[in-house]
Amino acid sequence: MKRRRINLCLARMSGEEQRYIQEAFDTEWVAPLGPNVDAFELELERYMGEGRHVAALSSGTAAVHTGLILSGVDRGDEVICQSWTFAASANPVVYQGAVPVFVDSEPDTWNISPELMEEAIRDRIAKRGRKPKAIVAVHMYGMPARMTEIMEIAGRYGIPVVEDAAEAMGSRYDGRMCGTFGEYGVLSFNGNKMITTGGGGALACPSAEMKRRALFYATQAREPFPYYQHEHIGYNYRMSNIAAGIGRGQMTVVEVHAAHHRRLAALYAELFADTPGIEVHLNPSERFDSNYWLNTILIDPEATGTDYESVRRHLESCNVESRPLWKPMHLQPVYKEAPRYENGVSAALFGRGLCLPSGPCVSEDDVIMIANEIKKCIKH
Ligand SMILES: *Cc1c(COP(=O)(O)O)cnc(C)c1O
Repeated sequence: MKRRRINLCLARMSGEEQRYIQEAFDTEWVAPLGPNVDAFELELERYMGEGRHVAALSSGTAAVHTGLILSGVDRGDEVICQSWTFAASANPVVYQGAVPVFVDSEPDTWNISPELMEEAIRDRIAKRGRKPKAIVAVHMYGMPARMTEIMEIAGRYGIPVVEDAAEAMGSRYDGRMCGTFGEYGVLSFNGNKMITTGGGGALACPSAEMKRRALFYATQAREPFPYYQHEHIGYNYRMSNIAAGIGRGQMTVVEVHAAHHRRLAALYAELFADTPGIEVHLNPSERFDSNYWLNTILIDPEATGTDYESVRRHLESCNVESRPLWKPMHLQPVYKEAPRYENGVSAALFGRGLCLPSGPCVSEDDVIMIANEIKKCIKH
C-alpha cells in the first residue's frame, strides 16, 4: 500500500475560516476591502506588536514591492539583497527598475552576513559615489537574521531596511517579533506559509502615515479628487475581504501551529543527535527563536556515504516531499550580471542540504518515519 503523501508544509484550517467568509457574503462585503480586512490588520498589529501599522495586501511579493517603493527605490538605484533567498525577495527590485546587489550569508544563521553587508555598502559608495537605496534582509525557513546588527549598520549609513519575514511569522530575535525590526516588514499568507489566506501578504509599516502611503500605492495611487486623478504609478495589491476572512480564522491557531513547528524541530534534532554527518539546523544561540517553518538538515557526503539528491529520491519513493536548500540568487541565470559580494557560504549550502516536512499537517510519527528512511540511505 502506498503511504499517504507527506508534503513539505501546508497551512491547516482552524475551522473558523468559513464563519468569517460567510459573514462577508451575508453583509455583501465581497470586495478588496471590508470588515474582515480591517479586523485582520488589527489582529496582525496586535500579534506583531512594536506599534507597527499593518497593510493587508494581495501577496508577500506585493508587500516586498510596496516596501521598496516606500523606501524610495527608483530606476537606476541599487538595492542590497540577501542572495540566499526565494526570488520574490529580489524580483521587486527589478520591477522598480533598480539593480539588486547580492550579499552572501553567514554560516550560523544562513542569512545575510552583517559584516559582508557593510563591506558591500562601502564598496558600492566607493564605486558609484552614492549609497544603495535600501536593504532586503530575509529570515530563511523562519531562522531570524541578525536584525539588531543589521539595523545598526543600516542606521549608520541611513539606508532603510525591508525585512522579508515571509517565512518567519512568529519567529523572534532578541525577544522581538521578526517583521518589526526593519522600516518595513513583509509577511506572506501563501498556501505553504505559517498561516494562509489562500494567497496574500502584509506590509508592517512604522507609522499610520506610512501605512496610508502603502495603501495608496496598493489601490492604484488615486489622488483625493472626485474624478480619478493620478500623479504616481499605482498597483492593484489590496487583499480581498474573503481572503482576510480566512486570515482571521487562521489567526485563531497561529500560535498553536507555531508550537507544533517547534516541537517537530526538537524531534528531528533528537532523532539525528547520534547520526554523524547529518546536522539539523537549529537556533545558534538563546537570542534566536525560529518558528522552524521548514526544518532543514545538512548531509555530509563523506561521513554518510550519501548525498542530498540520493536522500531526496529515496524520500520521494516513500511519498515524502523534500527539497534542496535554496539556490542563491547570485548563481541564478537571470541574475548573472548582478553585482555580488560572496564568501562561499550560500553556494555550499545549496549543494549540501534538504528541507524536510514540517508544520501542522505533519505528525510526530511522520517525523520518526522520515528520520528512519533518511538513516537507511547512510552507507557507513
Ligand atoms: C513566499 C515568500 C515570498 C513571497 O510571498 P508570496 O505571498 O508567495 O508572494 C517572499 N519572500 C520569501 C522569503 C518567501 O518565502
